[in-house]
Amino acid sequence: MDQNTNFYDIAIIGAGPAGYTAAIYAARAGRSVAVFEKASPGGQMGITSTIENYPGFASVEGFELAMKMESQAKVLGAVCKTEAVTAVTDEGKYKRITTKKGEYLAKSLVIATGAKPRLLDVPGEALYTGRGVSYCATCDGMFFRGRAVAVNGGGDTAFEDALYLSNMCSSVTLIHRRDQFRAAAYLVKRARGKENIHFILNSVVKEIKGKESRVSSLVLTDRTTGEETVLECSGLFVAAGRVPETELFRGIVELDQAGYIIAGEDTRTSSPGIFAAGDVRTKTLRQIVTACADGAVAAQAAEEWLESEGK
Ligand code: NAP
Repeated sequence: MDQNTNFYDIAIIGAGPAGYTAAIYAARAGRSVAVFEKASPGGQMGITSTIENYPGFASVEGFELAMKMESQAKVLGAVCKTEAVTAVTDEGKYKRITTKKGEYLAKSLVIATGAKPRLLDVPGEALYTGRGVSYCATCDGMFFRGRAVAVNGGGDTAFEDALYLSNMCSSVTLIHRRDQFRAAAYLVKRARGKENIHFILNSVVKEIKGKESRVSSLVLTDRTTGEETVLECSGLFVAAGRVPETELFRGIVELDQAGYIIAGEDTRTSSPGIFAAGDVRTKTLRQIVTACADGAVAAQAAEEWLESEGK
């Protein structure tokens, strides 16, 4: 189809590693491709400080890797649109994609929307978001230079955030609800070795308090003793995992109880011509490299489906 129209062979929603890889493979297969992304390129990868487990790069900034993937997709002919998708309908022959700027039709669809930060859902969180509460250390860390901050979570993100922030903040307190971590052992070891990273374990944030409309302290509850303490700090970085971005697709493809799109390694969803790649689908290991693998499989599966439908 003509790339100057709003018709594409394959539409991809989400410009993270899964979406860009799908775009690269689909464009190389000679298909017209549009990638829709509501925010900046790279998804979760784009806001990760340093990546050390993507083959070929001993160490690379997440945003840099995202820009490389975007540029590769564009060079191959994929159209990258910074447009928030507001609705998707499956009309059989075509999938209709509505954005804030217009409407598009595609013969097949790859969903690669990934996941968004899980909220703590405690008093003060909504009020102080953007006023000391952040979900992205690499985006907002610089605003807390020389200050005391806290990170909540015990996974890779929490530890990467704590390490990143420890280089610019006076102190970082990592609060975790258990005394065991999900994070990789090397990250835990590195954080333990930093003088300005402190740990408060078996504890949860009960309330976020502020002064002059900015975060000033956290009320913590020790889960073993029930004791409440107050931690003075200027910022809280929430790293409590992620939830899938699938609201747009409810009723179009089958979701599991946690909201992930049910799709196997072949990325096929319950709807013909719709494929799910990366963190958004049911899978065991959610990493950049597995998202890329999904993107390649999804593009190939879409291509095979288009061929079989004579499209
Ligand atoms: P995660 O592994 O799901 O960890 C989330 C953490 O938040 C867990 O420690 C969890 O505690 C805690 N948590 C969940 N809900 C909470 C709540 N309501 N209140 C307080 N704490 C809560 O999430 P992630 O760290 O964002 O990582 C997501 C995926 O991305 C993982 O597969 C990870 O390996 C990957 N990742 C990889 C890299 C890298 O390789 N460079 C970097 C970042 C992320 P519990 O442990 O008690 O459940």
